[in-house]
Amino acid sequence: MRSDTVEAMEESAVRKEVRTWLADAWDADIGLVAWRERLVEAGWGVPSWPRAWFGRGLPVWTDRVVAEELRAVGAVGMPLGAGMTLAAPTLLQHGSDELRARLLRPSLTGALRWCQLFSEPGAGSDLAGLTTTAVSDGDEWVVNGQKVWNTSAHHADMAILVARTDWAVPKHAGISYFVLPMHQQGVEVRPIVQMNRHASFNEVFLTDARIPAANLVGDLGDGWRVARTTLHHERSFATMRRPRFDGNDSTGRTVREAIVEAEEHFATYVWYPQRAGRADLVVELARTRGLANHPVVRQEIARLLSFVRASEWTAARGQAARALGRTPGPEGSLGKLAASEVARRSASVHALVAGAQGMLRDGPLATDAIVAEVLVSTVAQSIAGGTDEIQRNIVGDNILGLPREPSADRETPFGDTMRARVVSAPEFASLDELDDWRFLLGGIHAEFRAGSFPAAAALVVAIADAAEAADHHPELAVRYPDRVRVGITTHVIGGLSDVDVTLARTVSSLARAAGATSEPATPQSLEIAIDTDDADRIRPFWLAVCNGHDVDGAVADPLRHLPTIWFQHTDELRTQRNRIHLDVTVPHDEAERRVAAALAAGGRLVTDHFARAFWVLADADGNEVCVCTWQDRTP
Ligand SMILES: Cc1cc2nc3c(=O)[nH]c(=O)nc-3n(C[C@H](O)[C@H](O)[C@H](O)COP(=O)(O)OP(=O)(O)OC[C@H]3O[C@@H](n4cnc5c(N)ncnc54)[C@H](O)[C@@H]3O)c2cc1C
Repeated sequence: MRSDTVEAMEESAVRKEVRTWLADAWDADIGLVAWRERLVEAGWGVPSWPRAWFGRGLPVWTDRVVAEELRAVGAVGMPLGAGMTLAAPTLLQHGSDELRARLLRPSLTGALRWCQLFSEPGAGSDLAGLTTTAVSDGDEWVVNGQKVWNTSAHHADMAILVARTDWAVPKHAGISYFVLPMHQQGVEVRPIVQMNRHASFNEVFLTDARIPAANLVGDLGDGWRVARTTLHHERSFATMRRPRFDGNDSTGRTVREAIVEAEEHFATYVWYPQRAGRADLVVELARTRGLANHPVVRQEIARLLSFVRASEWTAARGQAARALGRTPGPEGSLGKLAASEVARRSASVHALVAGAQGMLRDGPLATDAIVAEVLVSTVAQSIAGGTDEIQRNIVGDNILGLPREPSADRETPFGDTMRARVVSAPEFASLDELDDWRFLLGGIHAEFRAGSFPAAAALVVAIADAAEAADHHPELAVRYPDRVRVGITTHVIGGLSDVDVTLARTVSSLARAAGATSEPATPQSLEIAIDTDDADRIRPFWLAVCNGHDVDGAVADPLRHLPTIWFQHTDELRTQRNRIHLDVTVPHDEAERRVAAALAAGGRLVTDHFARAFWVLADADGNEVCVCTWQDRTP
């Protein structure tokens, strides 16, 4: 017997069985979660899942068949959103038994809502370059970092999160995958308003967010493999269909709650049809505008709709392969590219048909708002879930067997190769939760009073452990009686980066936990400047006498006992003052107080022409000092 005949027989048997079960079990009044509990308990919620985990161990195509049967009688199906499509299948494949027992059922019933915390400001396409850090702390993980573009994070109870747990290994190997409870103090969700005026995604700031140790998914450091499972589900995620409950006339509680759930869900995704291009509207709109006979418009519409039809057939081949439990061939990978192409072509046809009116949100036609939204939404189609370029790389690597894209950082420890994102002093000053820190000379500094010398030493040990785990090391010093000084910078970029910011937050939280008090006005730095018309002539002398290193032309003590000496070029050497002056760099919010104090103590203001970058002062003998800050400097 041919296999498709066997399958047809099996399909009708499955339909019959689920229909019989539904006739008894479907209850429009029981309530949404209770109904889904029943569905899940019977294994009909996810029939292709294993019996041990709420399924029936049936072929993948039975999911579609059961969904059709549910729709036919107006019964409510499984929840929409990242829980069902991303989190649950990933937990099923990689989660511990304890995690699966705890989280799968409420995800399948819709009692738990999920979001995906993967992308970061510096890690989207290159997701493995992420820098959000999770540090082990007893039976918890402490997470610091920033995520972005996180759809529905503002509704979510739980997040699937990837974070770096090891900086000393190559980038893909140092990532772990977690389930993060969203309702906690360390998680701040800020909506992002898009250019189409919707706000469906967010930036999420993680500051000492806590994750129970048991919420690690897969092995420590194996997060990339787990994340690939999620990304696979995301890329093959079919268009979302709005559930219909018109197969019955029930206004029972189950249906009412399902309608509310769907409304809430689609409030976030209301612009997604427009994002996909609304090719379905072009013919009608061309007619409405009297352009249906225009030869160019007709030609463009025909071109668009032929492409739509061809890509639907390609998608159908992919779906058929999946339904048969086979891995789709090239058609699986081309679907996402085709969707981007449809969106782009549709937008261009809509623009052709609507003309300038396409820019009006409140034009004379009811559809004007839709067209305007299409024009500003379709760009997202080729970015979400992986960009077109990345999808083409995947096609090149996996389908065409082309050589992999060269990558310099695949084998090297991530901490060594990380392309840290530079953070400027003004940007740093605008960041939250960093009150302990001040920017001085390319790095950030904090000073804490721990209460006693042993407490200060203990804080240093705690910071050292966190730094070692993050593979990013600050300057640390203990000063009698109880001070801890911390300086952080990214040496590879010779300045401040987002990695420093993450470490600074970790240090602050350790200091807080140790009961230390912060004194942000106290950090300062001394440099010595020598006026010269020829630095090369005198530099060797200063290098020798200080046993220093030449760093960008300045004399630096590698062991940092001595201040840096730098050479200030001058064409005409002044005779009425010393050729050496001191630069005292202070916190920006301390500078004016310091200048005032120096003047009150008998000093003289030589010039404030360069303030707030620096004030030049002199003592009563004419010895000069500059009080410097990071402010008002041209980069
Ligand atoms: C509607 C929408 C919803 C989203 N929802 C979520 C969510 O819920 N959770 C989440 O974590 N993220 C989400 N994202 C983020 C999405 O995954 C990223 O935007 C996407 O992966 C691209 O990353 P990026 O924005 O950092 O761009 P970049 O990676 O910075 O890319 C910029 C440009 O460079 C190109 N490029 C980058 N690398 C290469 C390369 N190697 N070869 C050729 N070209 C390259 C890209 O194709 C792109 O054109 C969402 C995005 C959108 C638009």
